[in-house]
Amino acid sequence: MRIDSILAKKQTYSYEIFPPKGELPLEEACKVAQELALDHPDWISTTFSAGGSGNSQNTAAICDAVQNSLHVTSLAHLTCMGATTETVDAYLDTLSRAGIENVLALRGDRVPGREPKDFEYASDLIAHIKSRNPDLCIGAACYPEGHVESPSMEKSIEALKRKQDAGADFLVTQLFFDNELFYHFRDLCARGRIKIPIVVGIMPFTSKNQIQRMAFTCGATIPSRVIKRIIAAGEDPAAQAEAGVVYAQEQLCDLAANGVDGLHIYSMNKPQMAHKIHAALKECGYLAS
Ligand code: FAD
Repeated sequence: MRIDSILAKKQTYSYEIFPPKGELPLEEACKVAQELALDHPDWISTTFSAGGSGNSQNTAAICDAVQNSLHVTSLAHLTCMGATTETVDAYLDTLSRAGIENVLALRGDRVPGREPKDFEYASDLIAHIKSRNPDLCIGAACYPEGHVESPSMEKSIEALKRKQDAGADFLVTQLFFDNELFYHFRDLCARGRIKIPIVVGIMPFTSKNQIQRMAFTCGATIPSRVIKRIIAAGEDPAAQAEAGVVYAQEQLCDLAANGVDGLHIYSMNKPQMAHKIHAALKECGYLAS
């Protein structure tokens, strides 16, 4: 099913998974998807070579399994940094053959030695997909704290408007830990004539090291209340991870109470963590019990 059609009817709940890296078998990711499907998400998205990991070769196969074996709507990520029109078209054809109707069109991170080829920005990729595969529903990324390379929030919103005008049907946010920043961003989008739905992406922190990495790769602000919880958890990795789940549950329930279009969980291939979040969203009434 097209994700924009789902968003037109309800507030959504969805998960992201990433394909296995290196020698890990494809079946591992399929098992994760199978576990996540038990929560009946509206869709499951699969990343494409995130962080320049080069693990894109299994994305289409996982999307196929999600869509056709698990019968959950699939959202396939696609990045265009260093891609040619030929490779993009071949990937789109693979998705079409698997009956996948949704693609998240991204530029991809800058990595040394990988320069743009046929597409400079995500908006170029979106325009290409829209003209070549007009039946595909196209998602795009957005940044409540501005994109790390963007000189200002104004420029970040202008880039979003370009993606909307090129044909994006919905947006998914970068992770953040301070909901007030998202509410402010949502107002800026409304003022900047961004009319497509904005699905909120949340990643529970799992450790002090992981949240520090996130802050530097995504430019996410870490509020002092988060730092205090990590300090309170001490050096115990399990306590730090549990603090992350509890914080994400509170963050998500607050977002739910503030009328978001959808909630998307960066599951990090951890179904048990995802189930805990799912349970909290049932408890706060966002999801039906
Ligand atoms: P763009 O929209 O092209 O923006 C990139 C930068 O260029 C921004 O600073 C923007 O303001 C600026 N810009 C845009 N258009 C113009 C213009 N015409 N003139 C001047 N400046 C312009 N990465 C992966 O590798 N794989 C994934 O699967 C993946 N999934 C993601 C999912 C989500 C929900 C999010 C939020 C990010 C994801 N990323 C992924 C990371 C993403 O690739 C990076 O954040 C990347 O740096 C930017 O991608 P984009 O599509 O937003 O790029």
